[in-house]
Amino acid sequence: MIVGAGIVGCALSDELTARGWTDVTVLEQGPLFATGGSSSHAPGLVFQTNSSKTMTEFASYTVRKYSGLTLDGQWCFRQVGGLEVATTPERLAELNRKHGLATSWGVSGTLLDPEQCADLHPLLDRDQVLGGFHVPTDGLAKAVRAGEAQARRAIERGARFLPHHTVTGFESAGGRVTAVVTDQGSFPADVVVSCAGFWGPKIGRMAGLAVPLVPLAHQYARTTPVPELAGHNTDELEASKPILRHQDRDLYYREHGDRIGIGSYAHRPMPVDLDDVAHPSAGAARLPATPQTPQTLPTPQMPSMLPFTEEDFVQPWADSQALLPALARTKVEEGFNGIFSFTADGFPLLGESPDLRGFWVAEAVWVTHSAGVARAMAEWLVEGTPRTDVHECDLNRFEPVQLAPAYVHERSCQNFVEVYDILHPLQPMEQPRPLRVSPFHTRQRELGAFFLEATGWERPHWYEANKDLPEVAAVPGRGAWASRYWSPIAGAEALATRERVAMYDMTALKRLEVTGPGSLAFLQYLTTNQLDKPVGSVTYTLMLDETGGVRSDLTVARLGRDRFQVGANGALDLDWLTRHLPDDGTVQVRDTTAGTCCIGLWGPLARDLVQPLTDEDFSHKGFGYFKAKHAYLDNVPVTAMRLSYVGELGWELYTTADCGPKLWDTLWEAGQPLGVVVAGRSAFNSLRLEKGYRSWGTDLTAEHNPFEAGLGFAVRMEKGDFLGRQALLGVTEATVPRRLACLLLDDPQAVVMGKEPVYVDGAPAGYVTSAAYGYSIGASIAYAWLPRAAADPGTRVTVEYFGEQLPATVTEEPLFDPKMTRIRR
Ligand SMILES: Cc1cc2nc3c(=O)[nH]c(=O)nc-3n(C[C@H](O)[C@H](O)[C@H](O)COP(=O)(O)OP(=O)(O)OC[C@H]3O[C@@H](n4cnc5c(N)ncnc54)[C@H](O)[C@@H]3O)c2cc1C
Repeated sequence: MIVGAGIVGCALSDELTARGWTDVTVLEQGPLFATGGSSSHAPGLVFQTNSSKTMTEFASYTVRKYSGLTLDGQWCFRQVGGLEVATTPERLAELNRKHGLATSWGVSGTLLDPEQCADLHPLLDRDQVLGGFHVPTDGLAKAVRAGEAQARRAIERGARFLPHHTVTGFESAGGRVTAVVTDQGSFPADVVVSCAGFWGPKIGRMAGLAVPLVPLAHQYARTTPVPELAGHNTDELEASKPILRHQDRDLYYREHGDRIGIGSYAHRPMPVDLDDVAHPSAGAARLPATPQTPQTLPTPQMPSMLPFTEEDFVQPWADSQALLPALARTKVEEGFNGIFSFTADGFPLLGESPDLRGFWVAEAVWVTHSAGVARAMAEWLVEGTPRTDVHECDLNRFEPVQLAPAYVHERSCQNFVEVYDILHPLQPMEQPRPLRVSPFHTRQRELGAFFLEATGWERPHWYEANKDLPEVAAVPGRGAWASRYWSPIAGAEALATRERVAMYDMTALKRLEVTGPGSLAFLQYLTTNQLDKPVGSVTYTLMLDETGGVRSDLTVARLGRDRFQVGANGALDLDWLTRHLPDDGTVQVRDTTAGTCCIGLWGPLARDLVQPLTDEDFSHKGFGYFKAKHAYLDNVPVTAMRLSYVGELGWELYTTADCGPKLWDTLWEAGQPLGVVVAGRSAFNSLRLEKGYRSWGTDLTAEHNPFEAGLGFAVRMEKGDFLGRQALLGVTEATVPRRLACLLLDDPQAVVMGKEPVYVDGAPAGYVTSAAYGYSIGASIAYAWLPRAAADPGTRVTVEYFGEQLPATVTEEPLFDPKMTRIRR
């Protein structure tokens, strides 16, 4: 059962039936196929390039699929190309960066000078434009047509579409959905996918699920005929010039025959209360004859269309006439404020409810991504795993604090404001902060911590207190973009870690406790490494999906026979473990992150610092590498684990949140004679890359198997069955088609940020995942996915950074202390 026959519901019906799930019913409260939802009036611009690989791939599939669709001989996608123009130097630089992103994700585009921009789009005032980025495969989707064309294919395969059926509730038994209730009766159902667009929260509430999106109104207007366009476009073709973005002014444009359509994000966020949105039946009589054509303002025609607020369009209209001077001879003829969905992080919401099995959502999806999302959802439902990595879009990615209605509202509104902004990859949210702080927060503020934010946590990136460290002077500078959210102090913290000892706040990393008589068998099945080891052992292991893709990497400490502490990556790990719990109650999983805290104490003097504080033996013999034990450090009870993500001797020291400040003070005071420093994430990231330690979500995702990612050492094929094992049979590092490779840039000061394309023999061949300057090795590091043949040490490559080709060499890893002498001593 699919709820909603907008573009997403229609695309999903096609993708499901194509995979043999032909018993599909689509329930729609409005008429077909101009239902009254967002798709009914979307102008349908499809710009593929996105900083997310997943989103770009969704868009590229939409382009490919809709380009091949027609409805009664009419086009569904017109490849007029997409042109983004820069009117500021910052945007021009950003377009260079965007060219890199597009190349990384397989979209071909060209940077243009003002002349070339004006040649492509003659309405542009070339004096306004500093340059542009052109993607020839971008274009216009006819959302209602593409929806209907896909629905017809689904209907041919057995699907049915029921208009004027309003879903009012769900029935369930034993935690599973069993039926959909509508105003026309109930329909039995084993799988329900809510594709209700911005109505998602309302449908979610019926299923006991908080769907964290906010409906916001967005202005769209059309001009009177533009004399310069007279005779250029037939009604049938609608447009011939590229779709256009003027992001410096939050505006976009397309042709409608001889008129120009203008979309504006240059207004205040206008959140809409779902209770104020009319039911389509209320407005059905007033639905326009040609549903894609908004009628003369200000009468709204559909539930998702609100009256045009002219006062919000004054500046956008002036800006539009400045960019496209021909508009000065036109007027705004019609317009509306259309409603669609925004989320806290700008990504869609895809996945199954954690509490009601069989209830799925696919919401907050643009027309641009509709076919790609539908394909991923169909793979997920029919095959069990989407073939595209969807962790950024997973419904269950949020922490509890991120589901607070106030948070969802504020962040979603801010996302509307920032939709066309130039965003630095490290840029944190500004509000609401602080949300989550570790017990060390007060101390960190006293030491001048520069905080960035992640999943609500305040995380120090460096400390101003370290500004006078002698090492600061040795840290080289870097370019303007890479200098943002960075300080040479971070370099000094990294060097001090290698030379003396440093305290890192590791509290924000998710910790789960797995307990119960079935816990060993449970974790053995869900992960790849051998966990059946004596109490006190710690193991690095991987969670795979059925296809052998890495869902997460974990550090599992066996703290008791039936008690494990799992160092995880985030909320999705908790969700995955919870979903796989046996029904017999023999295993419990609990998130212990908030009630506990952790300091990573690392550096050659770590033992000198910690041993005098405890009666326990912290010698190399008495406390081996990858071992855990309980100890008292002065007054503080800790679980100590001898691990190091930075490649130095040391321990992760866990205690309960109430003892956090005492732990901090104890280590800080004991460390003074040894020159202890506090150090932040920025240093940490550099040190981990020097050691080649991967970060899940950045260096690898579910798209990659362990052998490609250089993590084959964490897979024990002989240990017995585990999830994903079948898919790895016969796979070795020698057979994989691609590898995560370590690059060193020729220019040590050329620090890149991640996601840049990598060229081999002048052709795009891969992309950077993580990058950092390695302070101890004095070189600039970038990890990158490359075809296996190009991943051998010594291969010369280039990395494109803001349009420049930076030479680099694939290098043997790890770059620092390959014999592990510093850790194992
Ligand atoms: C002005 C404007 C311009 C836009 N421009 C673009 C653009 O250029 N490019 C782009 O990619 N995107 C654009 N978008 C966004 C895009 O339109 C939407 O993201 C997309 O159409 C959402 O599709 P959907 O199928 O999820 O939702 P919808 O099309 O809204 O479909 C949801 C369906 O669910 C039905 N439904 C809801 N509740 C119930 C119920 N209780 N029972 C039964 N049925 C129910 C609704 O009637 C509706 O038909 C624009 C949006 C607006 C408003």
